[in-house]
Amino acid sequence: MHTNALPPGLEKATVIPRDEHSVSRRHISENALSVLRKLDDAGYQGYLVGGGVRDLLLGKRPKDFDIATDATPEELRSLFRNSRIIGRRFKIVHLRYGREIIEATTFRAPHDVNVELGENSSRRGIRHLDSAHSTAGMILRDNVYGNVDEDALRRDFTVNALYYTTTNFSILDFSTGMQDLKNRKIRMIGDPEARYKEDPVRMLRALRFSAKLDFDIEEKTLAPINELAYLLESISPARLFDETIKLLASGQAEATWELLRKYQPGNYLFAPTLRALLTPFRGREQAAELLQLALRNTDNRLADGKSVTPAFLYAALLWPVIQLKLALHPLPKLNPGQQLNAAANSAIAEQLTYTSIPKRFTQVSKEIWELQARLEQRNRRAVEGVFEHPRFRAAYDFLLLREEGGENLGGIGAWWTEFQEAGEDEREALLDQLPREQRPRRKTRRRKPQS
Ligand code: ATP
Ligand code: MG
Repeated sequence: MHTNALPPGLEKATVIPRDEHSVSRRHISENALSVLRKLDDAGYQGYLVGGGVRDLLLGKRPKDFDIATDATPEELRSLFRNSRIIGRRFKIVHLRYGREIIEATTFRAPHDVNVELGENSSRRGIRHLDSAHSTAGMILRDNVYGNVDEDALRRDFTVNALYYTTTNFSILDFSTGMQDLKNRKIRMIGDPEARYKEDPVRMLRALRFSAKLDFDIEEKTLAPINELAYLLESISPARLFDETIKLLASGQAEATWELLRKYQPGNYLFAPTLRALLTPFRGREQAAELLQLALRNTDNRLADGKSVTPAFLYAALLWPVIQLKLALHPLPKLNPGQQLNAAANSAIAEQLTYTSIPKRFTQVSKEIWELQARLEQRNRRAVEGVFEHPRFRAAYDFLLLREEGGENLGGIGAWWTEFQEAGEDEREALLDQLPREQRPRRKTRRRKPQS
């Protein structure tokens, strides 16, 4: 199926041959390589693109491998048995290899092609690539397919638009990706303002990549983001939740948080927390410090190859909001547990007006908070109950962060550490040393029989 003619669009690329870049096949997942091989064998173009190429050029290990191809989603479906089409507005094909998922996308053409298609189908950008598969891959409403050069210019930042091919191991650059990578700059492709209006989430992506890669955001790319941040209001809470997790699980949560505090887009994800951090109340410093430590902890865990859960992150993110509510709006008719519960529910409800959070996570955050009071109780029954709780470990970690953040809890964290590290006999001894359990006094006396 191969023709000698260059596929259309390739002539627009700056080609960086193998001996002039550092991407090596050895660092690319076997599965991604096999996808590229299979596409090539079937007569399609296939490139590694996005974070995979960018991170390899930076000597980092990519989180995942994305592939761009001229094969349509339907063609990918029939070529790969392990494939699934995801999304309707923007079709992506997931190729599953055990735990690894390779994302394949068909070359996109510029958005305005949609408009052009209306009356006069000039068909710019949707002409097809070679006769072998010219019938498929046409227009499916918002899925307008194009050539590789058009695909490159539809991407967000120049460093995300580098294409690596295994046919001759060169890299194709259609913008200024290589140069910006060298100068460590996040630069929007095209007119930043227009591109943010097309998809406001790109503002969050700019901040994310800046923190994650320790790159500066190029001046014109940065300039509109405070003014245009409000556009994030039009993004679904579910997408904003996904983006939140990417922001905080990037391995640079602390640096990312700095940027989210500094620039307006942060207010469209974390307004309740950011507001609480600016409101004076008793306990603010400690809550702020706990959050800071939780973010640092997250980065350290990821660096050690450990997992992080959104539940723990939200437990820390909403802690300042809860503490503010408890300090400024106490509900004296409720007992402390009920007060915490009320503050927690209201903090979650407020957060949900910005981003969704799946219930399975908020449920666990609430358990982490509720367990705090129980961890502080020192009697045998409470200790045994808490220790067996499925969220014990998360709640204990949270308790340590509270103390480390400056809350004085009378050394209870150290006690729990000792308790966990102790053997069975030592544990018994520790339990024996606890003060006797105080029986709660009956509040309502039995009514005296009426005389
Ligand atoms: P990560 O390391 O987080 O995976 P990534 O750059 O690979 O970073 P993805 O979200 O996996 O980011 O997207 C893959 C590629 O798709 C990006 O590199 C970019 O080229 C393109 N892309 C993703 N989201 C957008 C968007 N909102 N607008 C334009 N292009 C995008
Ligand atoms: Mg990626």
